[in-house]
Amino acid sequence: MSRVALVTGGSRGIGAAISVALKAAGYKVAANYAGNDEAAAAFNKETGIPVYKWNVADYEASKAGIAKVEADLGPVDVVVANAGITRDVPFHKMSPEQWQQVIDTNLTGVFNTVHPVWPGMRDRKFGRVIVISSVNGQKGQFAQVNYAATKAGDIGIVRSLAQEGARAGITANAVCPGYIATEMVMAVPEKVRESIIAQIPAGRLGEPEEIARCVAFLASDDAQFINGSTISANGAQFFG
Ligand code: NDP
Repeated sequence: MSRVALVTGGSRGIGAAISVALKAAGYKVAANYAGNDEAAAAFNKETGIPVYKWNVADYEASKAGIAKVEADLGPVDVVVANAGITRDVPFHKMSPEQWQQVIDTNLTGVFNTVHPVWPGMRDRKFGRVIVISSVNGQKGQFAQVNYAATKAGDIGIVRSLAQEGARAGITANAVCPGYIATEMVMAVPEKVRESIIAQIPAGRLGEPEEIARCVAFLASDDAQFINGSTISANGAQFFG
């Protein structure tokens, strides 16, 4: 029987590439998304991967959404907490709302995504938790105090879950992408993007599929002894 994988924010960008890679590896995949129905429907039509709409920042909505996924596909064996947002602004201009929105989605969203599936993983003595962090959580970034805090927090989450889950056959790891060519990055002004690329020794942005392959490996049986780690995939931009 094939394993079930849930990817939050799995209908666009890096998450979409992860959903597709896991399906290709034989998993039954569910892709969550927040509100872009058009993109989700197009993704579903193109890939055949079922899409589920809920806000990861909302615990009850996450619990209900995950219950629906499990009723449709079976218990979640692999959970990829990928959904994330940015609200970039220098700290002296950052509003409490901009701080809170990013914390709620990127950090509390990870709790809300993993907490409902954790007891089942413990009972079944198998689980894979993979959190998409960021190079900017490792090194910090101008105008991203909120975002960097959440992405550094992801690393604390997986290091702690790894210790709690190891005896129960559960691994928890983070992937720290550098700058990847998705709508999130293409939304920054071209001039800023060019200056970012100039700081990447590889001389280019990464592709979503390059992150998806890291995730597929961490989800596999071959990665059983990799636990509490962070895999950096950033074109030599930073060594965290
Ligand atoms: P995109 O903006 O391209 O896609 C974001 C996805 O997350 C969408 O599917 C979106 O749903 C979903 N999402 C956003 N908020 C919520 C929410 N509250 N509840 C449920 N789903 C939500 O992002 P990327 O693919 O670029 O980023 C994916 C992850 O990778 C993020 O965690 C990001 O921080 C991280 N990352 C990205 C990097 C990059 O260079 N792109 C670099 C390092 C890390 P919808 O379509 O409905 O809006």
